[in-house]
Amino acid sequence: MFSTMQDGSLTIARILEQGSGPHGASAQVITWTGEGSRRRTYADVGRRAAQLAHALRGLGVTGDQRVGTFMWNNAEHLEVYLAVPAMGAVLHTLNIRLFPEQLVYVANHAEDEVVVVDTTLLPLFGKLLPELKTVRHVVVAGGGAAGLEAPQGVQVHDYEELLSGQPVEFDWPELDERSAAAMCYTSGTTANPKGVVYSHRSIYLHSMQVCMTDGMALSQADRALAIVPMFHAMSWGLPYAAFMVGASIVMPDRFLQPEPLAKMTAVERPTMAAAVPTIWQGVLQYLSANPHDVSSLSEVVVGGAACPLSLMKTFEEEYGITVLHAWGMTETSPLGSVSRAPAGTTGEEVWRYRASQGRLPAGVQARLIGDDDQVLPWDGESVGELEVRGPWIAASYYGDDDPEKFHDGWLRTGDVGHISPDGFLQLTDRAKDVIKSGGEWISSVDLENKVMGHPAVAEAMVIGVPDEKWSERPLVAVVLRDGQQVDAAELRDFLADSVAKWQLPEYWTFIDEAPKTSVGKFDKKRLRKQHADGGLDVTRLD
Ligand code: ADP
Repeated sequence: MFSTMQDGSLTIARILEQGSGPHGASAQVITWTGEGSRRRTYADVGRRAAQLAHALRGLGVTGDQRVGTFMWNNAEHLEVYLAVPAMGAVLHTLNIRLFPEQLVYVANHAEDEVVVVDTTLLPLFGKLLPELKTVRHVVVAGGGAAGLEAPQGVQVHDYEELLSGQPVEFDWPELDERSAAAMCYTSGTTANPKGVVYSHRSIYLHSMQVCMTDGMALSQADRALAIVPMFHAMSWGLPYAAFMVGASIVMPDRFLQPEPLAKMTAVERPTMAAAVPTIWQGVLQYLSANPHDVSSLSEVVVGGAACPLSLMKTFEEEYGITVLHAWGMTETSPLGSVSRAPAGTTGEEVWRYRASQGRLPAGVQARLIGDDDQVLPWDGESVGELEVRGPWIAASYYGDDDPEKFHDGWLRTGDVGHISPDGFLQLTDRAKDVIKSGGEWISSVDLENKVMGHPAVAEAMVIGVPDEKWSERPLVAVVLRDGQQVDAAELRDFLADSVAKWQLPEYWTFIDEAPKTSVGKFDKKRLRKQHADGGLDVTRLD
């Protein structure tokens, strides 16, 4: 029998109406300009989103055409985020830090017809434009459209001129909640990037998860500092979730260095913030030498890569800020799990829970697959590849049904770890990064976190390198903190208390800078290549 309930569609238009209506006067998007901020209420954002939708209709966006963005986190990007899906078209966030050939590939693959570009990114975008086969209109936000040389057949518009005079209301269409709302390509470190296409429904449900108390607990009382770029896994869902519940949002625009991040925190007083660990490492290092008032922050979300325990403890003990460790992927919208210790836990046990990747919520079913494809128990010990499924998890890639990544309706995450009986995920590695030494696995992430616990170490990366006797052994690449000195033997002694003897690394190298990916994660592929090319000065301890 069917239910007797209504079937209201879960669409972006509902999120847009809620943010710009009931929360329209109280919530704001605050964009950092370098010295200060510019502010816009959600009511204004709603009106401008309506104007943008009218303007885009005028440019021929009448169906599910793709509208790309080549933008920093700012108010205009938020307007595009809302207007494009709500009018029935598809938002495509372009990762400005991809290699040019990858950007050209993704814009052509998605068949972007319109691209909205920040004026500060025009020099970069201008070089790509001649290669973008399907783009017919470029809309420049922030002025300076005249500076863009357009190939034949491409029209360039000024964002404000396009909006000006358009009606401030739009009759948002009733859409099928399963239709495409937005797309984001994975950064494709090994092959061509792959497109994940989110539906209205998946975004709506994911936004609710972001706001759940045991999720990121975002509410109307919050002011969220969205450091994670809107082109990196949809800024972890913050823009839509903030609009859904009326949380204000602080957007750093292009000012992503530790100094402006510290300053905007002191001035704009966000209550929560989200970024990858390497950003936070930089911010903490900056703050230790340049104190700023960051007391408004009560929680920061750290995800995208394993969060070192030392980073969590510094936040907590020196600034009274709680770190929420979260795990996810572009394919999981991205919020998979968030780590909050269960009620009643105390002492070291709390840290053990919080350092894990967190508890898998009802919307994310998970299983661990061992060698020979058997499903492993959730006993906190059995290590296998994590597979997930659920209403905000990708079932395929756009125009590319990569069968490797999907397994009987489950997404293969490529992440390896174990799950405790109470549902906490502990990742030990990415499948491609695990180190196999004499037939035993060594977790590169675990070693990295422990080395980063040494006070002289700013960053540490661990990769497997060939070894005659053990087939593979860990190599630790260390970036020292400014003005600090420590040698490999001392670091190995430091690890000896917490790492099994056979796992203690004998290969060490000191580097000036850790290679990072387009979204700021450690780029182990590049480090491996540097090693293979003989570019690292490696010390071997006996
Ligand atoms: P990319 O593959 O380019 O890094 P994503 O941003 O989608 O693109 O990355 C998802 C991957 O990031 C996950 O599969 C996982 O390996 C890693 N990751 C994300 N969050 C965490 C975390 N909290 N701990 C460890 N690894 C994480």
